[in-house]
Amino acid sequence: MTEKTVFEKIIDGELPCNKVMEDSDFLAFHDINPKAPIHILVVPKKHFENFQEVEPAIMAKMTEFIHNVAKLLGIDKSGYRLITNCGKNAGQEVMHLHFHMISGGEFTWSDKGVNPQSTF
Ligand code: AMP
Repeated sequence: MTEKTVFEKIIDGELPCNKVMEDSDFLAFHDINPKAPIHILVVPKKHFENFQEVEPAIMAKMTEFIHNVAKLLGIDKSGYRLITNCGKNAGQEVMHLHFHMISGGEFTWSDKGVNPQSTF
């Protein structure tokens, strides 16, 4: 059996997290190493290695969950960046599907990861 990822351990309650929102299918929590004033990770409780592997039907529900996280944080109108790193060349470190919700400032295109040196 392959070892659980850190996010699966958080989902299973084996590791702590700073929780923002949870329902039966998804969990949102603060990134441990935030790259912006607001940096939330949203994960499905069901394991998918990354976006390429996810069942499309899950994404419909996950979209609604992310909308609700944005409303809770008060960034639904002001805006946020939504990122998923999919696979090795995207720099994915944790092999359990997750979306980064990044906000709390005005970002420019150069922050968007076109520069290989940038964080995202
Ligand atoms: P990625 O490069 O897209 O796989 O991003 C993984 C993210 O997970 C990084 O932003 C890390 O800071 C974050 N991270 C790793 N371990 C934890 C943890 N235990 N709790 C919260 N965030 C974490």
